Amino acid sequence: MRDTVATIRPVAKLVRGIPANDGAGVKLTRVIGSPALDSLDPFLLLDEIRSADGADYIGGFPEHPHRGFETVTYVLAGHMRHGDNKGNHGLLTPGSVQWMTAGRGIVHSEMPEQQDGLMWGFQLWVNLPAKDKMMPPRYQDIEPSRIPETGLPGGGKVRVLAGAFNGVKGPVADIVTEPLLLDVTLTGTGEVLVPVPTTHNGFAYVFDGAAVFGAAGTSVARGQIAVLGAGDVVRLAGGPGRVLLAAGKPLNEPVARYGPFVMNTPDQIRQAIADYQSGRF
Ligand code: MN
Repeated sequence: MRDTVATIRPVAKLVRGIPANDGAGVKLTRVIGSPALDSLDPFLLLDEIRSADGADYIGGFPEHPHRGFETVTYVLAGHMRHGDNKGNHGLLTPGSVQWMTAGRGIVHSEMPEQQDGLMWGFQLWVNLPAKDKMMPPRYQDIEPSRIPETGLPGGGKVRVLAGAFNGVKGPVADIVTEPLLLDVTLTGTGEVLVPVPTTHNGFAYVFDGAAVFGAAGTSVARGQIAVLGAGDVVRLAGGPGRVLLAAGKPLNEPVARYGPFVMNTPDQIRQAIADYQSGRF
């Protein structure tokens, strides 16, 4: 006998992002990677940039390395140019997503392609298991037109960036943590039920308006992240609002973290620093 009764994931923890500064003086909000929410395996960091003042972001993120994990950039507004030491380059436009697997090492830059006007988007860091930390670097640059959208009863919609919802499959493929990444727009009427494997950790970040989660109807305001508890279905309701819903398979491995390097042991971090400094990225 199989138990087919869905268990709605409750809100296990509600946290607000904190102001932070990264790159060359970019002002951002650190949502995951703060003292209140250090990480949520396999997610290591979630930053939100949101400013219409060029001074807050113009410095960008000049040349810097990464090793041992993946960076996911999702742009809502503004333009961001990227380039790296492997010869890749491109322009991230509103609605696009970039899933970069740093693997054994990459040196790249992420620079605003505008002096002023709204820059709004996210960077999510997703860990790699020990067996894949030294894999060759890889990019998945996804244009907005390649991201499918599915309507919700009541006028809302879901953009499927990774994983699947309602039979609609996102364009990001072959990621070892089997991520689900959805951009959900809620209109204030009805509810959305999103199946998520019980094995996965998940969060919902409300980045516009408000939303309600769980069977208990926990209200969450813009700027708050809800860490989701155990269950196999995420329930979203309320609004109007917009939510970044993410889930991924936890790695349950030791994490040694130093700036842009995320490995399993302090020795591997020392090796990463040595490799970078001697130009082996
Ligand atoms: Mn970077």
